Amino acid sequence: MICPGCGKPELLFKEHDSIEMHGLECGPYEHFHDEWWECPECGARFTDRELEAA
Ligand SMILES: [Zn+2]
Repeated sequence: MICPGCGKPELLFKEHDSIEMHGLECGPYEHFHDEWWECPECGARFTDRELEAA
């Protein structure tokens, strides 16, 4: 993957999971899963969709 911002071809894949409890012990829980690409050169972040559009 090449960074659309600075052209550096070394984007790093990052992901993050989180669960939101809403203060209730029995749920409902919301599960969030984020994935993105991050450029170590300029620090820009891109989603898959943004990279496809670039
Ligand atoms: Zn970059």
